[in-house]
Amino acid sequence: MTLTYDVFINEPPSHNTGVLPNGEAKGGSPVASTLIYGSEDAVLTDPGFTTDQAHALGDWVAGSGRNVTDIFVTHGHGDHWFAAGLLAERFGARVVATAGSIAQMHNAVAARPLLWDKAYPNIPASPITAVTVADNRFTLEGHDLAIFEVGHADTDDNSVLHIPDLELVVAGDVIYNGAHLYLGESVLVGGLDPWRAAIDKVAALKPRHVVCGHQNKQLDDDAERTIAETRRYLDDADELLESKDTAVDFFNAMVERYPDHLARTVLWAGASALYGVRDHPGDDVGEILVAGWL
Ligand SMILES: [Zn+2]
Repeated sequence: MTLTYDVFINEPPSHNTGVLPNGEAKGGSPVASTLIYGSEDAVLTDPGFTTDQAHALGDWVAGSGRNVTDIFVTHGHGDHWFAAGLLAERFGARVVATAGSIAQMHNAVAARPLLWDKAYPNIPASPITAVTVADNRFTLEGHDLAIFEVGHADTDDNSVLHIPDLELVVAGDVIYNGAHLYLGESVLVGGLDPWRAAIDKVAALKPRHVVCGHQNKQLDDDAERTIAETRRYLDDADELLESKDTAVDFFNAMVERYPDHLARTVLWAGASALYGVRDHPGDDVGEILVAGWL
Protein backbone atom coordinates (compact mmCIF):
# COMPACT_ATOMS: atom_id res chain seq x y z
CA MET A 1 0.00 0.00 0.00
CA THR A 2 1.42 3.36 -0.97
CA LEU A 3 1.34 6.44 1.21
CA THR A 4 -0.43 9.69 0.44
CA TYR A 5 -0.29 13.09 2.09
CA ASP A 6 -2.64 15.99 2.45
CA VAL A 7 -2.21 19.42 4.03
CA PHE A 8 -4.54 21.41 6.28
CA ILE A 9 -3.87 25.11 6.75
CA ASN A 10 -5.22 26.58 9.96
CA GLU A 11 -6.01 30.29 9.80
CA PRO A 12 -4.08 32.39 12.33
CA PRO A 13 -5.98 33.37 15.48
CA SER A 14 -6.73 37.00 16.24
CA HIS A 15 -3.97 38.95 17.98
CA ASN A 16 -4.69 40.79 21.21
CA THR A 17 -2.22 43.66 21.06
CA GLY A 18 -1.43 46.65 18.92
CA VAL A 19 -1.02 47.56 15.29
CA LEU A 20 1.77 47.36 12.72
CA PRO A 21 3.74 50.43 11.55
CA ASN A 22 1.48 50.66 8.50
CA GLY A 23 -1.62 50.75 10.73
CA GLU A 24 -2.79 47.20 10.03
CA ALA A 25 -4.07 45.17 12.97
CA LYS A 26 -1.59 42.59 14.18
CA GLY A 27 -2.30 38.96 13.35
CA GLY A 28 -0.42 35.72 13.08
CA SER A 29 0.65 33.29 10.41
CA PRO A 30 -1.31 30.40 8.93
CA VAL A 31 -0.03 27.09 10.33
CA ALA A 32 0.23 24.03 8.08
CA SER A 33 -0.37 20.50 9.35
CA THR A 34 0.39 17.47 7.19
CA LEU A 35 -1.49 14.18 7.32
CA ILE A 36 0.58 11.33 5.91
CA TYR A 37 -1.57 8.23 5.54
CA GLY A 38 -1.80 4.67 4.31
CA SER A 39 -4.85 2.44 4.10
CA GLU A 40 -5.61 2.53 7.82
CA ASP A 41 -3.06 4.55 9.79
CA ALA A 42 -1.82 8.12 9.63
CA VAL A 43 0.83 10.44 11.03
CA LEU A 44 -0.01 14.09 11.69
CA THR A 45 2.55 16.93 11.94
CA ASP A 46 2.60 20.31 13.72
CA PRO A 47 -0.95 20.40 15.11
CA GLY A 48 -1.26 24.14 15.73
CA PHE A 49 -1.78 26.00 18.97
CA THR A 50 -5.23 27.28 19.84
CA THR A 51 -8.30 25.34 20.93
CA ASP A 52 -10.14 26.50 17.81
CA GLN A 53 -7.31 25.26 15.59
CA ALA A 54 -7.31 21.91 17.36
CA HIS A 55 -11.02 21.50 16.68
CA ALA A 56 -10.78 22.50 13.02
CA LEU A 57 -7.76 20.30 12.40
CA GLY A 58 -9.17 17.41 14.44
CA ASP A 59 -12.44 17.40 12.47
CA TRP A 60 -10.50 17.41 9.20
CA VAL A 61 -8.31 14.53 10.38
CA ALA A 62 -11.34 12.58 11.60
CA GLY A 63 -12.85 12.95 8.13
CA SER A 64 -9.93 10.99 6.69
CA GLY A 65 -11.15 7.90 8.54
CA ARG A 66 -7.58 6.99 9.46
CA ASN A 67 -6.18 5.98 12.83
CA VAL A 68 -3.57 8.57 13.88
CA THR A 69 -0.65 6.72 15.43
CA ASP A 70 1.81 9.61 15.86
CA ILE A 71 1.85 13.39 15.97
CA PHE A 72 5.26 14.74 14.95
CA VAL A 73 6.33 18.24 16.04
CA THR A 74 9.13 19.89 14.01
CA HIS A 75 10.37 22.40 16.60
CA GLY A 76 9.62 24.00 19.93
CA HIS A 77 7.77 27.20 18.95
CA GLY A 78 4.34 27.05 20.56
CA ASP A 79 2.35 27.86 17.43
CA HIS A 80 3.32 24.42 16.09
CA TRP A 81 2.38 22.28 19.07
CA PHE A 82 0.51 23.87 22.01
CA ALA A 83 -2.59 22.02 20.74
CA ALA A 84 -0.75 18.67 20.55
CA GLY A 85 -2.22 17.48 23.85
CA LEU A 86 -5.79 17.98 22.63
CA LEU A 87 -5.15 16.14 19.37
CA ALA A 88 -3.17 13.36 21.05
CA GLU A 89 -6.06 12.77 23.44
CA ARG A 90 -8.70 12.87 20.72
CA PHE A 91 -6.93 10.31 18.55
CA GLY A 92 -5.03 8.29 21.15
CA ALA A 93 -1.78 9.19 19.40
CA ARG A 94 1.82 9.40 20.56
CA VAL A 95 3.60 12.78 20.27
CA VAL A 96 7.10 12.56 18.75
CA ALA A 97 9.89 15.14 18.60
CA THR A 98 13.67 15.32 18.86
CA ALA A 99 15.35 15.79 22.23
CA GLY A 100 16.38 19.28 21.08
CA SER A 101 12.81 20.22 20.18
CA ILE A 102 11.53 18.85 23.49
CA ALA A 103 14.00 21.10 25.32
CA GLN A 104 12.73 24.06 23.26
CA MET A 105 9.15 23.13 24.17
CA HIS A 106 10.03 23.79 27.80
CA ASN A 107 11.22 27.28 26.82
CA ALA A 108 7.95 27.89 24.97
CA VAL A 109 5.88 26.84 27.97
CA ALA A 110 7.93 29.14 30.20
CA ALA A 111 7.26 31.99 27.73
CA ARG A 112 3.49 31.45 27.66
CA PRO A 113 2.53 34.06 30.31
CA LEU A 114 5.04 36.62 28.94
CA LEU A 115 4.28 36.18 25.27
CA TRP A 116 1.87 33.60 23.89
CA ASP A 117 -1.04 34.11 26.30
CA LYS A 118 -0.68 37.88 26.02
CA ALA A 119 -0.77 37.87 22.25
CA TYR A 120 -3.26 35.10 21.46
CA PRO A 121 -6.55 33.93 23.03
CA ASN A 122 -7.65 30.36 23.79
CA ILE A 123 -4.42 28.44 23.99
CA PRO A 124 -5.20 25.15 25.77
CA ALA A 125 -3.18 23.50 28.52
CA SER A 126 0.09 22.40 26.91
CA PRO A 127 1.65 19.50 28.79
CA ILE A 128 4.87 18.29 27.19
CA THR A 129 4.22 14.64 26.40
CA ALA A 130 6.50 14.32 23.36
CA VAL A 131 8.95 11.42 23.26
CA THR A 132 11.98 10.76 21.10
CA VAL A 133 12.22 7.73 18.80
CA ALA A 134 15.28 5.52 18.38
CA ASP A 135 17.66 6.70 15.64
CA ASN A 136 15.12 9.46 14.81
CA ARG A 137 13.12 6.96 12.75
CA PHE A 138 9.63 5.57 12.92
CA THR A 139 7.34 3.88 10.44
CA LEU A 140 3.85 4.16 9.00
CA GLU A 141 2.44 0.92 7.61
CA GLY A 142 5.99 -0.25 6.96
CA HIS A 143 7.18 2.95 5.27
CA ASP A 144 10.14 4.84 6.76
CA LEU A 145 9.71 8.29 8.26
CA ALA A 146 13.08 9.85 9.09
CA ILE A 147 13.63 12.87 11.31
CA PHE A 148 16.59 15.10 10.42
CA GLU A 149 17.98 17.58 12.91
CA VAL A 150 19.02 20.66 10.94
CA GLY A 151 20.06 23.04 13.72
CA HIS A 152 19.06 26.68 13.92
CA ALA A 153 16.57 28.06 11.38
CA ASP A 154 13.88 30.37 12.82
CA THR A 155 14.80 29.00 16.27
CA ASP A 156 17.26 26.54 17.79
CA ASP A 157 16.95 22.80 17.22
CA ASN A 158 14.71 22.74 14.18
CA SER A 159 14.00 19.35 12.66
CA VAL A 160 12.28 18.14 9.49
CA LEU A 161 10.51 14.91 8.58
CA HIS A 162 11.61 13.10 5.41
CA ILE A 163 9.27 10.57 3.82
CA PRO A 164 11.40 9.03 1.05
CA ASP A 165 8.52 7.07 -0.51
CA LEU A 166 6.67 10.35 -1.10
CA GLU A 167 9.78 12.41 -2.00
CA LEU A 168 8.39 14.70 0.67
CA VAL A 169 9.97 16.81 3.39
CA VAL A 170 7.76 18.32 6.08
CA ALA A 171 10.03 21.26 6.74
CA GLY A 172 8.47 23.09 9.67
CA ASP A 173 9.98 26.57 9.86
CA VAL A 174 13.13 25.84 7.84
CA ILE A 175 11.35 26.57 4.54
CA TYR A 176 8.49 29.06 4.21
CA ASN A 177 5.92 29.35 1.42
CA GLY A 178 4.34 32.72 0.73
CA ALA A 179 4.54 33.95 4.33
CA HIS A 180 7.07 36.20 6.05
CA LEU A 181 9.95 34.44 7.82
CA TYR A 182 10.53 34.98 11.54
CA LEU A 183 14.03 36.47 11.59
CA GLY A 184 14.15 37.57 15.24
CA GLU A 185 16.11 34.70 16.75
CA SER A 186 18.99 35.21 14.30
CA VAL A 187 20.23 37.74 16.88
CA LEU A 188 21.08 34.74 19.09
CA VAL A 189 23.33 33.06 16.52
CA GLY A 190 25.14 35.93 14.83
CA GLY A 191 22.97 36.25 11.72
CA LEU A 192 21.25 34.24 9.03
CA ASP A 193 23.99 31.84 7.94
CA PRO A 194 22.90 29.02 10.32
CA TRP A 195 19.46 29.17 8.66
CA ARG A 196 21.11 28.93 5.22
CA ALA A 197 22.96 25.82 6.41
CA ALA A 198 19.67 24.29 7.58
CA ILE A 199 18.13 24.94 4.16
CA ASP A 200 21.10 23.20 2.53
CA LYS A 201 20.39 20.13 4.67
CA VAL A 202 16.79 20.02 3.43
CA ALA A 203 17.92 20.49 -0.19
CA ALA A 204 20.39 17.60 0.23
CA LEU A 205 17.41 15.26 0.80
CA LYS A 206 16.36 16.11 -2.79
CA PRO A 207 12.63 16.34 -2.10
CA ARG A 208 10.09 16.98 -4.86
CA HIS A 209 7.56 18.29 -2.35
CA VAL A 210 8.08 20.47 0.70
CA VAL A 211 5.32 21.26 3.17
CA CYS A 212 6.26 24.49 4.93
CA GLY A 213 5.11 25.22 8.46
CA HIS A 214 3.72 28.56 7.33
CA GLN A 215 2.21 28.86 3.91
CA ASN A 216 -0.31 30.59 1.77
CA LYS A 217 -2.87 27.91 0.97
CA GLN A 218 -3.14 29.13 -2.64
CA LEU A 219 0.40 27.93 -3.32
CA ASP A 220 1.68 24.45 -4.21
CA ASP A 221 4.32 22.34 -2.41
CA ASP A 222 7.03 22.55 -5.07
CA ALA A 223 10.36 21.91 -3.37
CA GLU A 224 12.59 23.75 -5.82
CA ARG A 225 10.49 26.93 -5.71
CA THR A 226 9.99 27.07 -1.95
CA ILE A 227 13.67 26.38 -1.22
CA ALA A 228 14.81 29.01 -3.73
CA GLU A 229 12.33 31.58 -2.43
CA THR A 230 13.36 31.03 1.18
CA ARG A 231 17.04 31.48 0.27
CA ARG A 232 16.23 34.65 -1.66
CA TYR A 233 14.21 36.05 1.26
CA LEU A 234 17.21 35.63 3.58
CA ASP A 235 19.48 37.34 1.04
CA ASP A 236 17.01 40.21 0.66
CA ALA A 237 16.82 40.56 4.44
CA ASP A 238 20.61 40.75 4.75
CA GLU A 239 20.79 43.35 1.98
CA LEU A 240 18.12 45.54 3.59
CA LEU A 241 19.61 45.15 7.07
CA GLU A 242 22.72 46.80 5.61
CA SER A 243 20.93 49.64 3.88
CA LYS A 244 18.02 50.47 6.24
CA ASP A 245 18.60 52.34 9.46
CA THR A 246 15.37 51.63 11.32
CA ALA A 247 13.01 48.72 11.92
CA VAL A 248 10.18 50.64 10.25
CA ASP A 249 12.26 51.31 7.12
CA PHE A 250 13.25 47.63 6.99
CA PHE A 251 9.63 46.53 7.48
CA ASN A 252 8.38 48.84 4.73
CA ALA A 253 11.11 47.76 2.30
CA MET A 254 10.38 44.05 2.87
CA VAL A 255 6.63 44.63 2.41
CA GLU A 256 7.45 46.39 -0.87
CA ARG A 257 9.53 43.41 -2.06
CA TYR A 258 6.99 40.84 -0.84
CA PRO A 259 3.61 42.55 -1.21
CA ASP A 260 1.69 39.26 -1.35
CA HIS A 261 3.39 37.53 1.58
CA LEU A 262 1.14 36.75 4.52
CA ALA A 263 1.93 37.38 8.20
CA ARG A 264 3.38 40.90 8.31
CA THR A 265 3.19 40.64 12.10
CA VAL A 266 5.92 38.02 11.89
CA LEU A 267 8.03 40.35 9.75
CA TRP A 268 7.53 43.16 12.25
CA ALA A 269 8.38 40.96 15.26
CA GLY A 270 11.65 40.03 13.58
CA ALA A 271 12.47 43.58 12.51
CA SER A 272 11.81 44.85 16.04
CA ALA A 273 14.20 42.27 17.45
CA LEU A 274 16.97 42.83 14.91
CA TYR A 275 16.97 46.61 15.30
CA GLY A 276 16.23 46.43 19.02
CA VAL A 277 19.42 44.47 19.60
CA ARG A 278 21.39 46.67 17.20
CA ASP A 279 20.22 49.91 18.85
CA HIS A 280 20.34 48.70 22.48
CA PRO A 281 23.30 46.35 22.69
CA GLY A 282 23.32 46.29 26.51
CA ASP A 283 19.67 45.32 26.95
CA ASP A 284 18.30 41.85 27.70
CA VAL A 285 17.94 40.05 24.37
CA GLY A 286 15.12 37.81 25.59
CA GLU A 287 13.07 40.84 26.57
CA ILE A 288 13.73 42.45 23.20
CA LEU A 289 12.55 39.30 21.38
CA VAL A 290 9.32 39.13 23.40
CA ALA A 291 8.63 42.86 22.99
CA GLY A 292 8.72 42.46 19.22
CA TRP A 293 5.53 40.41 19.33
CA LEU A 294 3.51 42.63 21.68
ZN1 LIG B 1 6.28 28.84 13.24
